Amino acid sequence: MQFASIHFKQRAAGALANERLQGNLRRFGSGFADKRTAAREAYGADAFEQLREASAAIRDRALSDLDAWLLRFELEATRRGTTVIWAEDADEACARALEICARHGLKKAIKSKSMLSEEAALNAALAAAGVQPIETDLGEYILQLADEPPSHIIAPAIHKDLGEVSELFARHHGSAPTDDIARMTREARDVLRTHFLSADLGVSGGNFLVAETGSVAIVTNEGNGRMVTTLPRVHVAITGIEKVIATLEDLSTLNRILARSATGQEISNYFSILTGPKRADDTEGPEHNYVILVDNGRTRFIGGELREMLRCIRCGACMNHCPVYQTVGGHSYGWVYPGPMGSVLTPVFQGLENALDLPQAATLCGACHVACPVKIPLPELLRTLREMQLERRLRPWGERAAFAAWAFTATRPRLYAWMTRVAARVLKGMGGRKGRIARLPLAGHGWTLGRDFPAPEGRTFRELYRAGVRRKA
Ligand code: SF4
Repeated sequence: MQFASIHFKQRAAGALANERLQGNLRRFGSGFADKRTAAREAYGADAFEQLREASAAIRDRALSDLDAWLLRFELEATRRGTTVIWAEDADEACARALEICARHGLKKAIKSKSMLSEEAALNAALAAAGVQPIETDLGEYILQLADEPPSHIIAPAIHKDLGEVSELFARHHGSAPTDDIARMTREARDVLRTHFLSADLGVSGGNFLVAETGSVAIVTNEGNGRMVTTLPRVHVAITGIEKVIATLEDLSTLNRILARSATGQEISNYFSILTGPKRADDTEGPEHNYVILVDNGRTRFIGGELREMLRCIRCGACMNHCPVYQTVGGHSYGWVYPGPMGSVLTPVFQGLENALDLPQAATLCGACHVACPVKIPLPELLRTLREMQLERRLRPWGERAAFAAWAFTATRPRLYAWMTRVAARVLKGMGGRKGRIARLPLAGHGWTLGRDFPAPEGRTFRELYRAGVRRKA
């Protein structure tokens, strides 16, 4: 997918002006977040918090010895007949996948959802090499027809409404437009079934890599994942190196929290543990099984200030709880990973200077941290990225000057008190009889574009506190 994170502001402005998208985002609303809350309550709030603690510890344990666990994974996977391939970046991952296609003479790839294949632009590479890629996750299939990237990591077509999908299906399937969801699903299933039965390559991602057994674990809600990994004669799992965990016991713990955090389900509809190719007495499975382990910038996190980000298990809860994501949608972020997790990942993967506004695309309200199943301190990481931007002088000079002025004032209490007194009185005057300011000057201008600013009552907090003024109930 084309990288456009540098244009976050323009893309967000376009998303805000797009009424249809806004309607679709409103419909999406707090659906997943509410389901997560219900799942947490059903599990027991205290027990759920313990599960979060345990999950974060599992991820930290694996990441603190990442090299050792990856080598153990390679050893165990190889012992069971899987070929493990290492790729330093996206280009190498695509090159290795194409080598597999050439080796086995593969012509058609069915794919289950894989964010890493989006990251590596694998579909384009396959198509350019004459291998037809077919997305089989319903959301991804819709987006392949629309030639659009996903806008959410677990619900990729969440930005589309029924009418848009109906038009797409009518155009590509030659069917009559309909608003009957069951009929549309059947239609997609009929089209995809022929691909399932004729493909010679299955490409999947991997939610977790289990070191002790050399297995790839896949969590899906549609049966496509199982068909992708068992029907074609060659299966390739393409996944990030950070996905490794030590044991099946760890997998069972993480599996308890993943679906609950993502969609509020106790467990996903399908949960597969893939270990090696088809054996002599197996009735199904690929003849050849490959795992491509991709770095593509992940090792940059190790040992650094943003290292906790590698714990991410790609559940989507942070974006489901993010007021910014819910307002501007996933495409505004300009790359594969949207929402708070994307605002940390993208600047590291693509360069801080190429994703200038992403660390700013958050209110720092903390909802993402509270929802994250592996307790990633996303607001802190975003703040760290903002500090890095300032240190590297990547922010506009006006913003840097404003922060310098703020720092100068805030470290001089008397000056600070005098300036806030002046500001409180000026703002009260600007508010007039209505007590509301329709247009703030300078940096405040953007804030008042969509709403009025409530004018203060003319005294600072300290003055009110000293005078014993209490807010009326
Ligand atoms: S950062 Fe946390 S909440 Fe967001 S996708 Fe990753 S694991 Fe889920």
